Amino acid sequence: MSPTLANQVAIVTGASRGIGSATARALANAGASVALAARDTARLEQVAGEIEAGGGTALSVPTDISNPSDVERMVARTLDAFGRLDIAFNNAAGGGHPPTPLTDVATADFDSALAINLRGTFLCLKYEIAAMLGSGSGAIVNMTSTAGLEAVGGLAAYVSTKHGIVGLTKVAALEYAARNIRVNAVAPGPILTEQLERAGELAQQSAAQAMPMRRIGRPEEVAAAVIWLSSDAASFITGTTIPIDGGKLAGMAPFARQAPAA
Ligand code: NAP
Repeated sequence: MSPTLANQVAIVTGASRGIGSATARALANAGASVALAARDTARLEQVAGEIEAGGGTALSVPTDISNPSDVERMVARTLDAFGRLDIAFNNAAGGGHPPTPLTDVATADFDSALAINLRGTFLCLKYEIAAMLGSGSGAIVNMTSTAGLEAVGGLAAYVSTKHGIVGLTKVAALEYAARNIRVNAVAPGPILTEQLERAGELAQQSAAQAMPMRRIGRPEEVAAAVIWLSSDAASFITGTTIPIDGGKLAGMAPFARQAPAA
């Protein structure tokens, strides 16, 4: 079988670790040349090296997505290196605050999540779509979260910026649907990346128990959905947000309503 994304060019933000690096590897395995963006240059180089060692093509582009000129340069460097842009996975997130009652959230912490998550995704869309209009087509996947579709108390900055990304996805999809550019989002539930790894086995087990499937997800399971949404297999899908959550948003699992045994 020939790779589904042969001769395509992709940008992945937040590619230095976690879901971003897993998706960058999957895009390269599917045949795309991949520009890797994040702030940690050493880790970007490491991911690029692994992709190249596996026979793929990768370019490391150190980028802070909260900085407009960095984002403009990220797209320009991709076009310089590969000549076009077909796919973008706007996955990076940062800033914000740990679980905190809203009245105690520091304004600066709220602003930091806005600058990276929501404004950063806006900046990526702004420059990526302009490049895609140049080549006449494109597919973009934005990263939100189940917390972008259903609130989690204590996480004012994360929840509101992830909800904002769902709205931004719809606006971009509507504006560019007739120009052959599709814009969708993925909304994962808990996925095993560094933060959950650091939280330890107990935290992972209790996150798993809250899930209908009784397990947390793997970065590769998010990557598979991004590859599909980016490919022609999803050619009539735009403006939607797909939960990748083991059934979490479907509702309350029956066992959660049973009274504990006496
Ligand atoms: P992670 O390990 O925290 O990775 C975040 C990525 O974003 C890193 O590559 C980081 O790289 C990059 N980043 C942060 N600030 C940036 C900035 N200003 N400019 C450019 N890059 C920046 O996260 P993850 O768990 O893989 O999650 C990736 C995405 O999935 C996030 O949007 C997260 O909200 C979403 N998500 C995750 C889960 C989960 O359970 N893991 C669930 C739902 C949604 P540098 O530090 O090198 O810049």
